[in-house]
Amino acid sequence: MKAMVLHRICNLEESSQPLHFCEMEDPSPREDEVLIRVSACGVCHTELDEIEGRTPPSFFPIVPGHQIVGRVAASGRNVGRYRIGDRVGVAWIFSACRKCKFCRAGSENLCADFRGTGRDANGGYAEFMTVHEDFCYPIPVEFSDAEAAPLLCAGAIGYRSLRLSNIADGQRLGLTGFGASAHLVLKMVRHRYPNVAVFVFARSEKERAFALELGAAWAGDTNDSPPQLLDAIIDTTPVWKPVVEALKNLEPGGRLVINAIRKEERDKDTLLSLSYAAHLWLEKEIKSVANVTRQDVSEFLQLAARMKIKPEVEEFALKDANQALIELKTAKIHGAKVLRT
Ligand SMILES: [Zn+2]
Ligand SMILES: [Zn+2]
Repeated sequence: MKAMVLHRICNLEESSQPLHFCEMEDPSPREDEVLIRVSACGVCHTELDEIEGRTPPSFFPIVPGHQIVGRVAASGRNVGRYRIGDRVGVAWIFSACRKCKFCRAGSENLCADFRGTGRDANGGYAEFMTVHEDFCYPIPVEFSDAEAAPLLCAGAIGYRSLRLSNIADGQRLGLTGFGASAHLVLKMVRHRYPNVAVFVFARSEKERAFALELGAAWAGDTNDSPPQLLDAIIDTTPVWKPVVEALKNLEPGGRLVINAIRKEERDKDTLLSLSYAAHLWLEKEIKSVANVTRQDVSEFLQLAARMKIKPEVEEFALKDANQALIELKTAKIHGAKVLRT
């Protein structure tokens, strides 16, 4: 099969070609696994974290990619849920132990043996991949393959972060950063909480215009002050400055949800400007979002289908994955990037 492969950690400022297009042996499914012929795979900011070593792959060479849509091409002898030809998706959660206290309580996203697709197992930047049948999801008919791909990570984790924000209808929600996940959160909020006003903080004029077009009440630069304080803010940026800015913009008792698998080190000294009185006092909370559960993914897919949420998608050929990653790194974002195989 054809695949885009990562051989080692590299710095994207020095290398614009981190992945290599190559021919690999087709994977074959184990007894509980399905073999999926991939047709679309979303490009996620987490891939930048894997490539640059902030959340390094557990082996090399590895095929990245964890927002996968395809069709079942073969299955192991114990597979019972899917038939050849069924359309399925695979998300960031490749597997978890299913035995620990977190798994038993439905928090498999916190499992010590959590394995990420494309980081701890080969992912979807390829023509084929294998996964345990319990970690696949049927894709609702409402979506094309390319439309469904970004729902599997950006959408599902956006759904989890919106849940963790505790937002209620009538309140004010901030979104710091306006990439693939945040734009889906905005669409979700518009449908689910029609009386929530959304305030978007984004660096580029283009992202701010896009946010207003999708129904944001206000859009400003990362360090602009919103006209009112906010009840909750979801941060999807890779850096620290927006965290400090967001805490300042919260109502007393407000909650900041950080939806990022890792933060970059380059502006960490911004944290030294944290003032307990201005940024933390009055019961302000900070909560991170870790991974997703299968329940998050399934629930979000159903919700997205009911709400007719469709992500804005920009398609790239598999061999152009490096270009998609570099554009993501340099924030030339307009919706979600998807590779077609
Ligand atoms: Zn992702
Ligand atoms: Zn576990």
